Amino acid sequence: LVSAISLFGAKYVVGTSADFPPFEYVQNGEFMGFDIDLIKAIAAEMGFEIEIRDMSFDSLIAALVSGNLDIVISGMTITAERAEVVSFSKPYWTADQSVVVREDSDLTVTVLFGKHSIGVQTGTTGDIWVEDNLVTTKILTGDFKRYETYTLAMTDLINRNLDAIVLDSPVAQSFASVRPVKIVAILKTYEDYGIAVNKANKALLDLINEGIRRLESSGKLAELNLKHF
Ligand code: GLN
Repeated sequence: LVSAISLFGAKYVVGTSADFPPFEYVQNGEFMGFDIDLIKAIAAEMGFEIEIRDMSFDSLIAALVSGNLDIVISGMTITAERAEVVSFSKPYWTADQSVVVREDSDLTVTVLFGKHSIGVQTGTTGDIWVEDNLVTTKILTGDFKRYETYTLAMTDLINRNLDAIVLDSPVAQSFASVRPVKIVAILKTYEDYGIAVNKANKALLDLINEGIRRLESSGKLAELNLKHF
């Protein structure tokens, strides 16, 4: 019976790092957010099943390459380095980086210069941006701290163990609406988010791209935007 049922549609394991609201987060024990709704809608449209697995952002690509995951949707920016090891769908979102400080802080964009402490989530484009532009150039001379999740970085910021966090703009806005933090600068990085699959899985990539196209033309993608932003 089990194998008969599985004939109706393949089941794919989807990896995400569910600490990135409003794209992916956990509420009442359930995965929620724009990305979660998007991959569910693509699966429904194209007739496959999914199982969602939560893991650290930094381990998603390795899990895709080793075959432990079939799909990654995690607000992941399409970069040349990542595209060398995994395949990306057509872009479904565009974001920039934001600089976030405590609500009661007098710091401005100058927090990026000199002896300030900056936090990021390990392996993100924010991490790479700070490393490349501020750390290696010695523009930033204070601590550069990498965290497993943005939630941990936010806690350290609020507890005054950090001066600022650099993270994706829509997610910075989401945190600023529920935590005592504010955005003091936007770094225009023009990042496109894509859904990633193993390079060997061209058929699955085609399925996902076709799903995105259909959701675009049916207006369902616009509906998801309204729901989450
Ligand atoms: N867009 C950023 C990246 O791809 C951050 C993603 C995330 O933290 N989930 O690195």
